[in-house]
Amino acid sequence: MKAEIISIGDELLIGQTINTNVAWMAQELNKIGIDVYQTTVISDDKDHIITAINEAGNRVELVLITGGLGPTKDDITKTTLTEYFNTKLVEDQEILEGIKERLKARNLEMNELNRKQALVPENAMIFRNYWGTAPGMWFEDRGVVFVSLPGVPAEMKGLMTKYIIPAITDKFKPPVIIHETILTMGTIEARLAEILSEFEDSLPDVIKLAYLPSTPIIKLRLTAKGSDEKVLRELLDNQISKLYKVIPDLIFGKESETLEQIVGKMLRERGQTISTAESCTGGNISRLITSIPGSSDYYIGSIVSYADRIKTDTLNVNPDLIKEQGAVSKDVVIQMAKSVKEKFQTDYSIAVSGIAGPDGGSDEKPVGTTHIAIGTPGSVVSYKFTFGSERDINIHRASLTALNLLRKIILKDKGFRKKSSTKYG
Ligand code: ATP
Repeated sequence: MKAEIISIGDELLIGQTINTNVAWMAQELNKIGIDVYQTTVISDDKDHIITAINEAGNRVELVLITGGLGPTKDDITKTTLTEYFNTKLVEDQEILEGIKERLKARNLEMNELNRKQALVPENAMIFRNYWGTAPGMWFEDRGVVFVSLPGVPAEMKGLMTKYIIPAITDKFKPPVIIHETILTMGTIEARLAEILSEFEDSLPDVIKLAYLPSTPIIKLRLTAKGSDEKVLRELLDNQISKLYKVIPDLIFGKESETLEQIVGKMLRERGQTISTAESCTGGNISRLITSIPGSSDYYIGSIVSYADRIKTDTLNVNPDLIKEQGAVSKDVVIQMAKSVKEKFQTDYSIAVSGIAGPDGGSDEKPVGTTHIAIGTPGSVVSYKFTFGSERDINIHRASLTALNLLRKIILKDKGFRKKSSTKYG
């Protein structure tokens, strides 16, 4: 079952108003198993409205229209739809009373423009607008349902939630749809698709898999569509368990979880603490960790050691090491992780040093070269990555990669202790 959404408004076409209505409506339709086939934005113009509803009505069974209903726009949508559906406007007493009540509550006088809003097409089903004055209208013509709603987002959402979604469900009995999103990190989309090709081929017909990449995270959205919710839920749960077995190292969370939330939760549950020593990420890891309310329970602090002088003076990195190996090197990040962990007396630490770009790269160490070290209660582990050439993306990738490495280490750290250790293996 397919639907279309038509947004009416000159303000949308000139980019003055962002079309948030269409995004919200598409999500709501999707939740009840209705696919949005096309969305169209048009001007407050009679001919334009007629052309758009005519075309949409030839393609799908449900057309949702927002905007152009208020008195300031001469009710362009209402008058056009009345003419298009060959009917006439009549005064609706209940709507009139509703408008009167609303105005009275706000100490406003009823004027001619308000009164016009109680005029409704005779052959339409009318829905009272408790969030404004223009009512919602439901027309049926040649087996197609056309619903007209106000453009004001709060009014549209109120009418959709209270009346339109239940009425659509009642009329069309759309299929049950369940989405589950699994979050992965650690590989690129093409490689992930290769790893998952067998899993994807063996999915039951009612379940579809979509890849939603946003570097460095790739979301895997599984969508089950059918008629029996219990059966679908079971099928979906089975596939998700299977997925966890196929890519255990790549999955880090689900739905809208973030790495900083997940890591924070793990540390809080274990009563453990963390500190950071950041060079190329310039405090971004600290920002991510502290974006979580209550992070003071486990986050102690950071040293943003951007200049070599701070690495040597504050983090005790041997100056010869920097001379010989460069600030972006394995031994330097290891020393940074050890020092900050000791100084701040934490169970874990993260240290990052890299060439974020766009300049500063060499043949040996191209832009994107990044070393990350994780200090743990018993040791320090280090990793080398070669990210890309874009500064912002490199900082973002380095930050999330560091948090993900920490997550994996905490998971494996079965014999955790409450107090930090200063011994390194
Ligand atoms: P009126 O405002 O005259 O009562 P209406 O309720 O039908 O009429 P519009 O005139 O089209 O709606 O728009 C009213 C307000 O809603 C404007 O501020 C407009 O920017 C906003 N709006 C309209 N359409 C959208 C949309 N698609 N997404 C987000 N906001 C919208």
